[in-house]
Amino acid sequence: MKEVYSGLEAWRYIIESEKRRKTVESYLPLILSAAGAFGVSPFIVLRYLQGEWLAAIVDTVIVLGFTCLGIYVYRTRKVRFASIAISLFSMGGVLTTIYVIGPQQAYWIYPGLMAVFYLLRPHEALLLSFTTVFALIPPLLGRADSHSTMTIFVTIVVMSSFAFAFSLVTSRQREQLMRLATKDPLTGAGNRRFFDTKLVDLVNNMRRTGTPASLLLLDLDHFKKVNDDYGHAIGDRILKQVTEIINLRIRATDKLYRIGGEEFVVVMEGQTVERAAHLAEQLRTLVEANELVPDQAVTISLGVAELRPGEEPVDWLHRADTALYEAKRAGRNRSHIAS
Ligand code: GH3
Ligand code: MG
Ligand code: MG
Repeated sequence: MKEVYSGLEAWRYIIESEKRRKTVESYLPLILSAAGAFGVSPFIVLRYLQGEWLAAIVDTVIVLGFTCLGIYVYRTRKVRFASIAISLFSMGGVLTTIYVIGPQQAYWIYPGLMAVFYLLRPHEALLLSFTTVFALIPPLLGRADSHSTMTIFVTIVVMSSFAFAFSLVTSRQREQLMRLATKDPLTGAGNRRFFDTKLVDLVNNMRRTGTPASLLLLDLDHFKKVNDDYGHAIGDRILKQVTEIINLRIRATDKLYRIGGEEFVVVMEGQTVERAAHLAEQLRTLVEANELVPDQAVTISLGVAELRPGEEPVDWLHRADTALYEAKRAGRNRSHIAS
């Protein structure tokens, strides 16, 4: 999770319920589209009354564009695509009016750029702001007086620098916040809270699209004894090593969470129980083969469960837990598939 996110994308990691998250995420693009549409509409009337037909047409296209984008966000909640589209459309619209109507339209650059720096990732926004500056050279040079032209360019650069610095700082803070909200500090695996969110997402996804998903619940065997024999610090080191072993083996679409003291879950999106059972055995033999402490095998037991159509998250997890319990009861260092 080392990437830099836009203000909007960060919500994905902070709000737990998918439905509420989508609502919050789409809130800002919706407001921006509405502000764009309502802000520009009075000018259509004004241009029309003044007989400036070309300008009236440009403004009408801008209002229609914002309205369509607003409806698109409202309907699909596809926030990332809408953010890019709104940003490009806003700056494209501003530039078009400057070309068509004249340099006095430059005022619109500032609210446009403000929106862009919130909607896009910091470097993307900076790139768009530079592009805007270059695109402004032909219509401004030679048309506005040199003092106004200079002022427009300098204020855009100053505003973009501030906005860029501000959005970089906030995105770092968001990254930290996301780590605190989603990761287990000892192992770096996802935490229980993040796991619960993921489970609900997968269940909803299965209901919508029929995508399968499987869980691998795993627990270290006789870990209390390992702690007693070698100390808590070595116990902690083993938990980190087990995390590494698992992370090296699982695919990019599989995710590891630590949901209890020495209890982990691998969530396999799009995978049926056959693949999950295969991975369970691979992980079990890998941990055993690593000889994490001398003279004593550190092993894991696993319970595997594929999500059933219509099943609730809690029941899915419960089946995996029962399978894990059976693996323990059957002698540990084994995997068991849920019925
Ligand atoms: P079983 O095979 O039945 O799972 O036996 P167990 O000893 O692993 O199970 P139990 O649940 O009785 O004990 C879990 C132990 O895990 C208790 C505790 O000492 C240890 N443990 C839990 N969290 C941590 C942790 O963060 N660090 C360390 N070092 N040990 C932990
Ligand atoms: Mg245990
Ligand atoms: Mg346990």
